[in-house]
Amino acid sequence: MISVSNRGCFFTLRKVVVKMKLRNTTLMVVTLFCVVFAILFIQGFSSHGKKEIKAATTSPTIESDMSNQNQDSLEWNYIPEEYNVTLMTLKNDYQADERIYPDLQEMFDAARNENIYPLIDEAYRTQERQEALFSDKVNAYIAEGYSEEEAHDLAKTWVALPGASEHQLGLALDINAEQDKCTNDAVYLWLQENSYKYGFILRYPSDKFNITGINYEPWHFRYVGREAAKEIYTQELCLEEYLD
Ligand SMILES: [Zn+2]
Repeated sequence: MISVSNRGCFFTLRKVVVKMKLRNTTLMVVTLFCVVFAILFIQGFSSHGKKEIKAATTSPTIESDMSNQNQDSLEWNYIPEEYNVTLMTLKNDYQADERIYPDLQEMFDAARNENIYPLIDEAYRTQERQEALFSDKVNAYIAEGYSEEEAHDLAKTWVALPGASEHQLGLALDINAEQDKCTNDAVYLWLQENSYKYGFILRYPSDKFNITGINYEPWHFRYVGREAAKEIYTQELCLEEYLD
């Protein structure tokens, strides 16, 4: 009886052990499955994230005209519709905001006294002229083989978007040299060092592209008044930094 009972006991114990082993094996398989699933999930998620970041950093192409416009309105300051400018006509029939004239005249006189001969090549622009210049630039990039979206993005690093150009304010001037009297470089250098004394700033310095979004334009000067110009020049700021 004892032995039967013992055997019965032993048998029962074996069943328990087998059951336990089975349970452990099932638990291990389930755990393993969960771990593998978790690893695959995490890898899938992070590579998806990487792909998205890569797409955002390596492709400047913007998908549609609508997102172009959204992007543009984030990046650019459009001139308010009610903005009024009182223009005066300069030599060569260029026009500018009349408030800049006295300082401009004084600056040009000072330059000439040092044998530097600046010449205005662009001043006030109408909306129509800005539109024409911008679409010329876009078309030039398209002719080089860029897509319309790429051409748009490249063009706006050189030409301000219509409605957002300082030339439309009448406060910006493109200044080169009287070619038979001195070089453009001589004029640019003189203006870089002296224009602030007369209220003008080099608007798009070479080291500020990441802030202004516009390439280095050694000919483009913007009137901000003498006080602001001096601060901007001495602290080596661009206008965006000064206004922040
Ligand atoms: Zn300009």
